[in-house]
Amino acid sequence: MLNRGLVEGVVCVQNTEEDRFQPMPIIARTPEEILAARVNKPTLSPNLSVLEQVERSGMKRLLVIGVGCQIQALRSVEKQLGLEKLYVLGTPCVDNVTRAGLQKFLETTSRSPHTVVHYEFMQDFRVHFKHEDGSVETVPFFGLKTNQLKDVFAPSCMSCFDYVNSLADLVVGYMGAPFGWQWIVVRNDRGQAMLDLGMDQLETQPVMSKGDRHNAVQQSIPAYDKGITLPMWAAKLMGVVIDKIGPRGLEYARFSIDSHFTRNYLYVKRHHSEKLEAHVPEYAKRIVEQYDLPD
Ligand SMILES: Cc1cc2nc3c(=O)[nH]c(=O)nc-3n(C[C@H](O)[C@H](O)[C@H](O)COP(=O)(O)OP(=O)(O)OC[C@H]3O[C@@H](n4cnc5c(N)ncnc54)[C@H](O)[C@@H]3O)c2cc1C
Repeated sequence: MLNRGLVEGVVCVQNTEEDRFQPMPIIARTPEEILAARVNKPTLSPNLSVLEQVERSGMKRLLVIGVGCQIQALRSVEKQLGLEKLYVLGTPCVDNVTRAGLQKFLETTSRSPHTVVHYEFMQDFRVHFKHEDGSVETVPFFGLKTNQLKDVFAPSCMSCFDYVNSLADLVVGYMGAPFGWQWIVVRNDRGQAMLDLGMDQLETQPVMSKGDRHNAVQQSIPAYDKGITLPMWAAKLMGVVIDKIGPRGLEYARFSIDSHFTRNYLYVKRHHSEKLEAHVPEYAKRIVEQYDLPD
């Protein structure tokens, strides 16, 4: 979009020189600067700090890449930015942490925390850690030390019901796709126009869905709530089984959404009960109602 002159700048997130995981939002003006923003920095990023720069720069056409909370805030000030055209490319997002929380996660979960260059929770029910030497370490979700990690997620993420980034024009994530593929959601004509620009470079297949998420979601509720951690051999075994028979594709996305919405519903109910009714959107309530929740 930059090369074709459709936009003058792209808001994206690089990392600082000293710390590969410390997010550094920028307005990229060259393809190189955009490419340098590749890879998820799984930490809260102060993206809106660049909006003041947008106003000052006099740019009229902008592409913003961001997660749901950033896009919600962007949409609420969109009209004040003086832009002629705003394109929004979103990613789904869940369970974000502060930089300190990220360190705690690495230290409790990876065999070699200081060599991790990238990690992602993947559709095969495992966290994939990529290390400096190129090796990949996988840890099954069921083996995470939930009891120690319960408090690392940001309170904002524990009360978020916009996992799928519903205000973006186009959303790219991996949930909803078979392992190794990305999932693309076109939300409106602008998103379709954005996708059309790159469509000839993409290999695509229709969306698939397999399995039934309900049991897995129901089981995830007390497991998280009570901070249950399985011994690694059992977690690995469970990972293999669920990878074979568990929800796949779109059903995996639903598993992930439902298990986070139920968890977050409980969080809001317990910590901000006076806001529960107004804060939780109808679509989330309809999801939560499908499950038995503890008090
Ligand atoms: C915090 C976070 C949580 C995510 N959680 C999920 C999830 O639960 N399920 C899912 O399907 N996908 C999730 N994603 C999206 C996933 O990590 C990939 O970004 C997505 O699949 C696109 O892949 P890619 O290789 O094209 O991304 P890349 O080419 O690596 O591009 C990633 C883009 O994300 C931006 N970015 C990086 N870090 C941040 C940050 N902290 N805040 C805002 N923007 C950032 C960069 O600017 C870059 O443009 C998450 C992304 C982030 C940033």
